[in-house]
Amino acid sequence: MPELPEVEAQRRALDEPVRAFPVEQAGPAHVATLKTFDPPLRALEGRRFTGAERRGKRLLLPTEDGELVLLVHQMTRGRLRYLGAGEKEPKAPAFRLRFEGGAQLVLTEAGAKKRAGVWLLTPEAADAELAHLGPDALGLGAERLGEILGRDQRRLHSLLRDQRAIAGIGRAWANEILHKAQVSPFAVSGGLSPGHVRTLADAIESEMQRGLELRERGAKDAKVYLVHDRLGQPCYVCGTPIARVDFEEHTIYYCPECQTGGRVLKDRRMSRLLR
Ligand SMILES: [Zn+2]
Repeated sequence: MPELPEVEAQRRALDEPVRAFPVEQAGPAHVATLKTFDPPLRALEGRRFTGAERRGKRLLLPTEDGELVLLVHQMTRGRLRYLGAGEKEPKAPAFRLRFEGGAQLVLTEAGAKKRAGVWLLTPEAADAELAHLGPDALGLGAERLGEILGRDQRRLHSLLRDQRAIAGIGRAWANEILHKAQVSPFAVSGGLSPGHVRTLADAIESEMQRGLELRERGAKDAKVYLVHDRLGQPCYVCGTPIARVDFEEHTIYYCPECQTGGRVLKDRRMSRLLR
């Protein structure tokens, strides 16, 4: 699942190539992938992008004339890739855009369910589409985080993943951030001391930066994630086996020693079944 570090690394890699040539052919797109019909995709043809931008986990490609914005949200399994002229292309991409000279931008999505999306919007419509997003996790800072945390009483893991509160963090990076800050994924947002807020803000920034640097070098999940998806492996701080708890629809990975004072959290789904 691409989150802020993964999408920002993509954005940096795409920024130059997407503006090198005008669009020659936009589409075809899978009917479930293309979320808009007016303006039509063909409206991109002959136009040039200014580069690649990002808001949270979404990529934005605005046209040079300021009239259109192509917005891409890869969701869990979508992958946007740039293929140089003559590079082997996937058989049935969910979306394809060909540049003059032969390079292509292709979105593929594994599995039968099409969740990734492509929108072609006016800049005003793009602003409206993104208006619900909270501030970007990268460069957030302790003051702004304190305001967000103080607004309500919510479990930290859930709050960090809420794109309306903070944009860019998902399941994997919420695990990494909370472990780095050494706080429980179930700690309640409004109850953190100013010191803990600062620690959490520092952990968000350092983890986003660490992820970005690794992804820019092409590092894979196994190298990037130190806590996420590492059930039973020793914590890199204290050596305690990493634990996992299934909470509602989400699986959380944490260190019982570093984060929850030695307590192993109950699996909410299981305890409900056993009650
Ligand atoms: Zn630990």
